[in-house]
Amino acid sequence: MGKDYYAILGVPRNATQEEIKRAYRKLAIKYHPDRNPGDKEAEEKFKEAAEAYEVLGDPEKRARYDRLGDAAFTGGGGPHHYEDIQDIFRHFGDIFNDIFGEGFGGFGSWSGYGTRRAPRVKGTDLRVKLKIGLDDIVHGGQRKIKVKRKVRAPETVYQTCPKCHGSGKVTRVTHTIFGPAEMRSTCNMCGGTGYVTAYAPPGADENGLIWTEEIVTVKIPKGVREDVQLKVAQKGHDAPSPNGKPGDLLVTFEEHIPPDYAIDGLDLHKQLDLSLPEAVLGTSKLVETPHGKIKLNLEGPVEPGKILRIRGKGIPELNTERYGDLFIHVNVHMPKKLSEEDIRYFRSKLEDKNFQPKKAKQKTFFQKIHDLFS
Ligand SMILES: [Zn+2]
Repeated sequence: MGKDYYAILGVPRNATQEEIKRAYRKLAIKYHPDRNPGDKEAEEKFKEAAEAYEVLGDPEKRARYDRLGDAAFTGGGGPHHYEDIQDIFRHFGDIFNDIFGEGFGGFGSWSGYGTRRAPRVKGTDLRVKLKIGLDDIVHGGQRKIKVKRKVRAPETVYQTCPKCHGSGKVTRVTHTIFGPAEMRSTCNMCGGTGYVTAYAPPGADENGLIWTEEIVTVKIPKGVREDVQLKVAQKGHDAPSPNGKPGDLLVTFEEHIPPDYAIDGLDLHKQLDLSLPEAVLGTSKLVETPHGKIKLNLEGPVEPGKILRIRGKGIPELNTERYGDLFIHVNVHMPKKLSEEDIRYFRSKLEDKNFQPKKAKQKTFFQKIHDLFS
């Protein structure tokens, strides 16, 4: 009689790996022995689900099972048949870590089931700050950086902690007014890793780790900003014991934006300087932007403070395809000194009606800004 692993997990035969994982996760949480103390039926279901997930969660085993059913594993290579709950936790640590991520429920709460596996200890995280420019923000990029990290020396020898026998926990009986109580706490000899260093080679620290330099490639996603923290998994220090995994490399950013640009949310602002004659007569300009050169035809006379909006040429939003807009602010550069001829010319225009400011008709700079954002 074959077991129907699909029925046990409650998924269709064409379920995706993600659906299988989700279904199993649900069952494991529901029938977890921590939640159902002393419930034999829950324990059975917990075991069954574990067995089903071991097969269906592994594409290779699943394919064999789909072809041959239970017979697929008569020659071995099949799931564990769990005799007791201790067995599950012994064989199952990796699957739990895989599916729930490190530290789900904690091995601390499971150690009561007699697992001899100590909590997996993570190495220390490393931090690095990268300088980024406007191009990195708009297009993303890549950096190769030199990282100094501690890794396990190959000669290092670890042994099971003699105090906690590898569980990472010690039990102590304390006497309270209600009577004796058992207290479980982190083993102070191994720091909870379940291992102590039996031999560390010269140059290594007390955990058997040595300094190395490694070139790590950091991928910078477009839309990255100063408030973003990136994680390069497992490029921190190695764990201080053989059962742990390395810490992460945490990357933060420092923006270096050219002075003629400003960023506001997803919008990018740039100043465009025109000479006085250009502003008066109108001009056509090739403007550099992070999205490439943009040709602007400005009909004269151009008002100082004029703002041109170019949609979709601003800053990308992290992890989306949304872009802000680019705003070009026209600035008219006044000459430092005028020639006699210029002075004569402008003097002759002082009384010219055409040059008189007309208050009512021209919008002020502040009105224009208001219009743009409303
Ligand atoms: Zn210990």
